[in-house]
Amino acid sequence: MRQLIIIGSGPAGYTAAIYAARANLRPLVIASSVEFGGELMKTTEVENFPGFPEGIMGPELMMKMQEQAERFGAEIVYDDVTDLELAGEVKTVRTALGETYEALTVIYATGSAYRKLGLESENRLSGYGVSWCATCDGAFFKQKHVAVIGGGDSALEEATFLTRFAEKVSLVHRRDELRASAAMQERAFADPKIEFLWNQEVADISGAEKVDGITLTSTLDSGERTSLDLDGVFVAIGADPRTHLVHGQLDLTAEGTIAVEGRSSKTNLPGVFAAGDVIDPTYKQAATAAGSGVVAALDAEHYLAALPKETLAKADGVVPVDEINGRAEGSSPA
Ligand code: NAP
Repeated sequence: MRQLIIIGSGPAGYTAAIYAARANLRPLVIASSVEFGGELMKTTEVENFPGFPEGIMGPELMMKMQEQAERFGAEIVYDDVTDLELAGEVKTVRTALGETYEALTVIYATGSAYRKLGLESENRLSGYGVSWCATCDGAFFKQKHVAVIGGGDSALEEATFLTRFAEKVSLVHRRDELRASAAMQERAFADPKIEFLWNQEVADISGAEKVDGITLTSTLDSGERTSLDLDGVFVAIGADPRTHLVHGQLDLTAEGTIAVEGRSSKTNLPGVFAAGDVIDPTYKQAATAAGSGVVAALDAEHYLAALPKETLAKADGVVPVDEINGRAEGSSPA
C-alpha cells in the first residue's frame, strides 16, 4: 500500500508530486496513457508561467515538471484510472491495464475535458477536419482555410497559432465581444490572416469523408443562415472538469467542479484531496493549478502525519516500517 496516489499529470498533479516526493511520501502518479502532461502538452508557447521570461513551450514545461517530481522519488505510470473506491481509510484505485493500487490518501487532479458543440457532424468528422487541438493538427492545414469556434483565450491562441499554416482563419464567435484577455485580442486583431465572424453559431459541419464547409446561424434576431466553404474546424469553446470517476463519491459544486473546503484541497471524504482545474471554475491557469497542487500535497502530508502510527506503518514511504514498529514498542528510532 502507498502513502499517496496522485491521479493526473498536469501542473496540479506534477506540482503535488514534487512537494509530496520531497516530503518523502513516495507518491505514485497515474499520468494517463494518452493525455499525460495535461492540456499544456497541446499548447505552444507559454508566456505567463513564472520563471520563464522568454516563454517556454508547453510540452517542455510539463517534461521539466515531471523530471523534477521524479528527481525526488515520485513514481509515474502511464495508465488510465477506471474505478475508484475512496470512502474507506484505504483508497482503492483500479486502472485500464488491470492494476489495483491502494493508498491512504489520494490527490485527484484530472483537469478538464474539451467541450463539444454537440453536433452529430462534429462527432462524425472528428479527426477528419474537426479538431480540438491546433498544435496537434494545425500542420495538416497548410495553405487551407479553417474556422476556429469560440471567443476565449483558447480560441484566440488556436487562431493565432493556425495562421502559421493556414491561408485564412475565420474566428466564429456567438457574440460581438470577445471573452479573451486584452493581450490575446490585440494580437489576433492585428493578424491579417484572421477574419472575425461575429454573432454566429455553428449549425452544421458538412463533408462526406472530410470537412468541406460549415453552416452558420446568426445569433441576432434575423437567425440568418450562411454557408462557408473551408477545410477544417477547430473547436475551442472551453472545457468541463473531469469528474465522472468520482460521481456519487465526492461532492460537486453548482458549477460541476469538485467541492473543497475553503482554500484547502479537502473534499468531503477524509484522505481525498482535489487540485487544479477540476476544483477551479474561474481561474484555470497553469500557475494557479500548480499552486493548487502545492496545497493538496501539504494537506495530504498533514493528514498522513495525524494518522495513527500503526495505520501509517501499513504504507510504503516516509518512515521505515521497522522504525515505526520500534517506536510503537517504545524503543527510540535508529
Ligand atoms: P472560456 O474562457 O470559457 O471561453 C469559452 C468561449 O467559447 C467563450 O467565448 C464562449 O462564448 C464560447 N462558447 C462556449 N460554449 C459555446 C458554444 N456551445 N458554442 C459557441 N461558443 C461557445 O474557455 P477557454 O478559452 O478555453 O479558456 C479557459 C481558461 O483558460 C480561461 O481562464 C483562460 O484565460 C485560460 N487560458 C489561458 C491561456 C493563456 O493565458 N495563454 C490560453 C488558453 C486558456 P461566450 O464568451 O459567449 O460565453
